[in-house]
Amino acid sequence: MSRSAIIHISDTEFGEFDRVQSSSRQDGYALCVERFAEDVSAILAQEQVPSDRVGLVVTGDIAYYGAREEYETALRVVNSMTDRLHIGRERIAIVPGNHDVNWPACKEAFDASGKSNHKDAESLAEKHLHFSRFFRELLGKEFPGPGSAFAFPGFLPMGFALVGIDSTLPCTFDETDNYGRVLDSTAAKAGVLLRGLKESAETGIDDATIGIVALHHCATPQADRHADDNSYLHEAEDARSFLTEAGFELFICGHEHRQGSSGDLRTGGKVLTTGSFGLGIGKLVERYEGDQRIPTNRYQILLLKDDAVNMECVLRRLEPPGNASSVWGPDKEQGPERFIFMPRLQPFSAAGEPEVRFVIGTPAAFDRKERTFAVEVALEGAKDSLERIRKVTYSASAGTKRESTNARERFRTQLEMSDSTDRVLGVELTMRDGPPIRREVQLPPLPS
Ligand SMILES: [Zn+2]
Repeated sequence: MSRSAIIHISDTEFGEFDRVQSSSRQDGYALCVERFAEDVSAILAQEQVPSDRVGLVVTGDIAYYGAREEYETALRVVNSMTDRLHIGRERIAIVPGNHDVNWPACKEAFDASGKSNHKDAESLAEKHLHFSRFFRELLGKEFPGPGSAFAFPGFLPMGFALVGIDSTLPCTFDETDNYGRVLDSTAAKAGVLLRGLKESAETGIDDATIGIVALHHCATPQADRHADDNSYLHEAEDARSFLTEAGFELFICGHEHRQGSSGDLRTGGKVLTTGSFGLGIGKLVERYEGDQRIPTNRYQILLLKDDAVNMECVLRRLEPPGNASSVWGPDKEQGPERFIFMPRLQPFSAAGEPEVRFVIGTPAAFDRKERTFAVEVALEGAKDSLERIRKVTYSASAGTKRESTNARERFRTQLEMSDSTDRVLGVELTMRDGPPIRREVQLPPLPS
């Protein structure tokens, strides 16, 4: 299998603050199309990715106000990008974000509906009035509406079974409704679509295709946030479990305007969030220099390696920010500029054993002095399967052991290894209802 790549951008927020529309229009256009395409092309050439195995995923907040003119800019820019990169429309995937809800259209439809609670406005299709048109004009198919799940079969030849989810169902014209939600019924639909994609994959083998779900709101619960926070994905843990059980192995998200997002990302794989690609110099800012707000522009490339097991995330960022002379370069601000991870769940079960699978994170770094890796491992599976496990013991060959009595716990630890090539982790499950089960798990390679 040859290599393939997903270019992941998010939160472009084309609108009144973007540089494409502003007085320095040519600068913005150059930064977001010409220099971006050059940067992507150079990386793909270096990585020897064939041009027909490259796709683009945009995880929402394409516009700022969900307005018609914003999508006209977006359509022009995305078409220019994909033309330059020779990406056909079948290899483009988009999902809406909270900024893709058009408030006036949503309010008007709500008023006309005669309903009394604005929460009832969440399912009104009119809220995506202009996003829907953008979706149709860019992809040549209809956006299925609020709270939907939809497949992108054009990514299958690249080794990806990609399903998009609209996580913006709760979003209305009310600013307290910016949070996301994935209904169980939506997750179930996504699972059906995933199975359909995998069955139609050329290989005919389930395991040869990585199940990816794209959604705007970050699928990692934010420990530092309050339950009443109106901007994050509500019941994220449930949504993630449900979708993982349905067979999704990788979540790609936006909304957070920062890369990684979950804190455990670089050691935990699985949920990848990219920063804002945003062109804006107004509200899109994330950084200050003194009193001055500085825009941050980021994107990332997800590379599927030749072994079809390991993936690599390459993080890029515009430097210096917000400047006509800016160039795209490695993004080291939030960690390493690239890292390898294993999206594929590692099946664990034999007949009669609990149906659980391993999620293996990426060793963030090998501490040469202490000869230790930081690794994160977790078991995923149905609740009744996990409840059969009394204790999980992880052991590295250098003799370090870690134990957990909660099989649902994401287990993060420093493990002593004899050297950087020694990458096997022993796992023992102590069962409540039978003899112990032992396996060896191969860890991903260190980033080069
Ligand atoms: Zn957002």
